[in-house]
Amino acid sequence: MLRVWSQGFAGADGVFNDDGIDRYMAIDGMSAIPKLLAEGLDVTVGARVESIRSCGDHWKVVSDDGKIWLSESMVLTPPAEQALKLLEAGNTLLDPQDREVVESIRYHPCYALMLRLDGPSSIPAPGGMWGDGNPIIWLGDNSLKGLPCGADSGALVTVHASPSFTRENWDSSPDGVASTLIEAAKPWLGSRVISYEVHRWKYSLALQCLDPSYLILRGHPLGIIAGDGFGGG
Ligand SMILES: Cc1cc2nc3c(=O)[nH]c(=O)nc-3n(C[C@H](O)[C@H](O)[C@H](O)COP(=O)(O)OP(=O)(O)OC[C@H]3O[C@@H](n4cnc5c(N)ncnc54)[C@H](O)[C@@H]3O)c2cc1C
Repeated sequence: MLRVWSQGFAGADGVFNDDGIDRYMAIDGMSAIPKLLAEGLDVTVGARVESIRSCGDHWKVVSDDGKIWLSESMVLTPPAEQALKLLEAGNTLLDPQDREVVESIRYHPCYALMLRLDGPSSIPAPGGMWGDGNPIIWLGDNSLKGLPCGADSGALVTVHASPSFTRENWDSSPDGVASTLIEAAKPWLGSRVISYEVHRWKYSLALQCLDPSYLILRGHPLGIIAGDGFGGG
């Protein structure tokens, strides 16, 4: 299911930096991991939760189409701000100390650009490299990772913009952002861009790493808030 992908990546100059730290990849793609973990569990996907209410000895979770789940315990892992909104929508009052912890969690935003090329990219093996942050911080080539990338043979490249570029261009047109990032990535593309998709991540890299990497809510049925905002990515 997993294999070591690399022990470091090239920097913006294209020179590989071996730092001896294993990075893993899922052989059948990232979603294979949660699919395995979910085996034998009763999982609902595609439901948008609207509110979470603390009801004495249980939690009540309500989705936007009116479906209700009751449970003795709950683990909540959306970005911290969204977790807080769901609890507020259910009139769940947090202990002031717990509220302060959740409110203190911040994230960098990130524009992620997916590019389909008409041939191989020039990104060096093993298919990932750091940018100089101006404006790109990361370039990845999924085809070099050996992942199935679609019917044709062109590379599928991911480009991540720096937090500062993303903030400055938050309200810019997606096409304008894409053309700036494509221009900056050009030395590493090596082939023509056939199509692209821009994704604006508001809650990307957590700015802090809290210890412990979860919060047990005081004064409620067992409720835990966790996720990247607590333990880091
Ligand atoms: C562009 C990008 C690329 C990345 N690439 C990699 C990578 O290659 N390898 C790697 O290890 N990590 C990668 N990461 C980091 C990785 O995605 C995170 O570390 C991980 O997803 C964090 O998990 P989480 O459970 O904290 O939050 P998330 O995965 O964000 O999970 C939170 C979930 O809550 C759901 N949610 C929020 N509100 C509601 C609601 N109202 N109702 C129902 N559901 C809701 C969201 O839909 C989401 O599925 C990447 C991150 C970004 C932004």
